[in-house]
Amino acid sequence: MTSFKDLGLAEPLIFALEAEGYTNPTPIQEQAIPQLLEGHDVLGIAQTGTGKTAAFALPILHRIAGDKRRAAPRTVRHLILTPTRELAVQINDGFATYGRNLRFRRACVFGGVGQGPQVRALNGGVDVMVATPGRLIDLMDQGFVNLSAVESLVLDEADRMLDMGFIHPVRKIAALLPSGRQTLLFSATMPKAVADLASFLLRDPVRVEVTPVSSTAERIAQKVLFVSREDKRNLLRDLLRGKDVERAIVFTRTKHGANRVAEQLAKDGIPADAIHGNKSQNARQRALDAFRSGEVRALVATDIAARGIDIDNVTHVVNFELPNEPESYVHRIGRTARAGAEGIAVSFCDAEEVAYLRQIEKTIQQPVPQDIEHGYHAEPVARLFASGKGSPPKRKPSGGRPFVGGSRPQGAGNGAARPQGAAGAGGNRPKGAGGGGLQRSAAAGNGGGGNGGQRRHGAGPGGHGHSKRG
Ligand code: AMP
Repeated sequence: MTSFKDLGLAEPLIFALEAEGYTNPTPIQEQAIPQLLEGHDVLGIAQTGTGKTAAFALPILHRIAGDKRRAAPRTVRHLILTPTRELAVQINDGFATYGRNLRFRRACVFGGVGQGPQVRALNGGVDVMVATPGRLIDLMDQGFVNLSAVESLVLDEADRMLDMGFIHPVRKIAALLPSGRQTLLFSATMPKAVADLASFLLRDPVRVEVTPVSSTAERIAQKVLFVSREDKRNLLRDLLRGKDVERAIVFTRTKHGANRVAEQLAKDGIPADAIHGNKSQNARQRALDAFRSGEVRALVATDIAARGIDIDNVTHVVNFELPNEPESYVHRIGRTARAGAEGIAVSFCDAEEVAYLRQIEKTIQQPVPQDIEHGYHAEPVARLFASGKGSPPKRKPSGGRPFVGGSRPQGAGNGAARPQGAAGAGGNRPKGAGGGGLQRSAAAGNGGGGNGGQRRHGAGPGGHGHSKRG
């Protein structure tokens, strides 16, 4: 089995990974890291929970480790764009963790909070900046940051960027970056607009892919409970009182629904909090911290708020309401099977949701087992589902499909994207990621432990490179 050492990562990183208790790279890490170290652009098809953050953070840190140059004032060497503040914070924490034995400067930039501390962090120049597009553009427009020295760009959760309307800002930012940079794009799904973006941003990319959509679903014990809408509250209360439920994320479709469910749970004596886009950044972070520490057992969330939340040991995901996009179901249940752990996903389905359930089964290519023994079982809903009737759910026009089974995405709009070895195949680890026959010239170069010879920018000798933590 490949180890992190086999991948050729610098020692300070290996020590940090050991301290984290990571013994072996995950499949996406095994595939992506060698390509990135060699300087290739990479198109990564992977969702959160696959270890993709380390897959892009480690090669960047490896370069920082082998290179004494530091960023000049107000410049950025490695830029990571991500759609949400929560993801930005998580990725920034990832860099702090994996880079704990290195001295480097980083900044985390997102909206909804004062810009003062972010501007100060940028003043001296940063080696790594994790940013949401809106705030970054604000700072650029005010002249607080200059992207002309960016050596590598990571675009994380590109499909979510699309859903959130960030494609245009991303293009605007990318247009200001040096063309010789290395670029990495990660997306869980590949709708056409993301494929177009990929071909705009990436040069002759190597494609790496893990297909957790079906394999995630396989690792999780799923069940659906047919229930009338009125009984959902009591069903949830009884379920969460179960001793085996240590930490549960409860999903609703709307922010209002999330608040209501959290309030009802609190009234029923179950410590709960809600997390959604209407809450302030501080309130969201407080809710996440309380959930992580176990002070709050149930976190009620909407899809957007929960996307990418990285919390280990979530024992249960409860779909209080089924999502109207089947892909969201896969993302939701994936919250309970992080990094290989197993979990339980329970979905409530009322009469108006049977069509959603059908779409979900089609997407995951398996039936969701039914539990008809529970105290609030609604037989008419079960019969409606079995009958195949019920109006089909509406889909958002931009929604992309995850790649399940053999159904491949339409090429990423990029004939050059090569499949890498063992793409897919539920749970199988790919063999050595060093694909042969990669003919890409080293134009975008500077991979490996080298100093990226051809690069002239960002060499500011004045940077003292103290690592900014927390
Ligand atoms: P991500 O997909 O980047 O959100 O990572 C999902 C989770 O997997 C995070 O909690 C990471 O800390 C964890 N993780 C990442 N890489 C590894 C690894 N090689 N071994 C064990 N856990 C990992």
